[in-house]
Amino acid sequence: MKLCVIGTGYVGLVSGVCYSHIGHEVVCVDRDQEKIKRLSQGEVPIFEPGLEDMLASNMAAGRLSFTTRLSDGLAVADAAIIAVGTPARADGSANLDYVEAVAKEIGSCITAGLVVITKSTVPVGTNRKVKNWIAETCGHEDFEVASCPEFLREGTAIADTLEMERAVIGVESVNAERLLRDLHKPFQTTIVTCNLETAEMAKYAANAFLATKISFINEVANVCEQVGADVTSLAEAIGLDHRIGRHFLKAGIGYGGSCFPKDTQAFIRVAQQAGYDLQIVPAVERVNAAQRLTVVHKLKTALGHNLAGKQIAMLGLAFKPNTDDMRAAPALDVYPALEREQANTVAFDPIATEQAKAALPGIQLANTWQQAVKDADAVLLLTDWETFKDISLPELKKLTKQPIVIDGRNMFDPKEMEMHGFYYDSVGRPVVD
Ligand code: NAD
Repeated sequence: MKLCVIGTGYVGLVSGVCYSHIGHEVVCVDRDQEKIKRLSQGEVPIFEPGLEDMLASNMAAGRLSFTTRLSDGLAVADAAIIAVGTPARADGSANLDYVEAVAKEIGSCITAGLVVITKSTVPVGTNRKVKNWIAETCGHEDFEVASCPEFLREGTAIADTLEMERAVIGVESVNAERLLRDLHKPFQTTIVTCNLETAEMAKYAANAFLATKISFINEVANVCEQVGADVTSLAEAIGLDHRIGRHFLKAGIGYGGSCFPKDTQAFIRVAQQAGYDLQIVPAVERVNAAQRLTVVHKLKTALGHNLAGKQIAMLGLAFKPNTDDMRAAPALDVYPALEREQANTVAFDPIATEQAKAALPGIQLANTWQQAVKDADAVLLLTDWETFKDISLPELKKLTKQPIVIDGRNMFDPKEMEMHGFYYDSVGRPVVD
């Protein structure tokens, strides 16, 4: 199959590379010239494990190429896949400007019979708008639209694509269904076929449900702290029940990233526009916003309720490990809160350094965790990068001014922390001192 993927971000690039990997001929299009230049030279502009090697081998096999010219990509394509961003507007609704621009551009150079697939996360009704935007521009309806929302996770995006748990395809015709079934056949996955509206809603419902699970366990963790219970054992105890499931029951400092925060907000707006006032999802958001700052309260408790002039080491800035993505990362709330408290902060992230500089202007960045914790009054763990698990506790204790660790990701074993003489406060587990 010949595919034109529009947008080479976390979704478009991974999808394009994976489609080429399973044998399709893929042209990836982006309006960002610098990005396309780097990609054409085999350089991946985002951090996604395994992507660069896979990109190189498929380019070498002649199945994958990059261009800024949509007309080149569309010229021979059977399907166009829209994977541009849909960020939140100030009122929380999804900004469809990029999708609209792409649809109109497709309309200006469309070939007969093209199937236009929207992979971007979009509110209900968007695929019908895409159809209208294209038709208004090209002046005919000799094309089809389909919705195929993306469920990959940054950091494990390749495996999530090649071994996808399901594909959701929202279609209006037998022809579009056949094309999408053929496209997904090599993935040997379960295909859920539905109408456009259901596919669009499925993505928001999935993310809202996962966000709910996170906020739920975080609230349980907050109660655990008050009653001397341990949320880690509790999560295992309830997660073994298949009706609940073990995943997404890890208490911490709340969700972030480019999807959950914006998609929960957009879902609320979608429901409002449909005349329904959602109750659960706004509560999930409120819990999440408060949860992000619990580490700052814990820090204040540990340091005598005054952070002014205190040296704080922040370990981890990316919204989760194995990505350089800082979009809606908890650090974006925690750092300003520390600034307001007049603390002195030095941060370290193994990967998201450039992104952190852009997202948190003025932040002082260290090159190693050792540099960050040197003479710190307290260490704050914000991202559970695997490499932080290897931190030598005696070395950490020696480098810091005070052996205080506030762990927003429950990375360390409280007993071990106690053994090494740390004051250790994590999430939903008793404080050790
Ligand atoms: P991104 O911001 O990383 O990438 C979007 C890309 O689209 C950019 O490279 C941008 O230059 C390009 N673009 C914008 N307008 C264009 C145009 N007119 N022509 C060509 N290229 C254009 O976004 P992302 O994280 O890949 O997300 C894309 C969509 O997928 C969003 O709707 C998002 O909600 C959804 N999604 C994201 C994830 C994720 O983990 N990032 C997972 C599932 C779904």
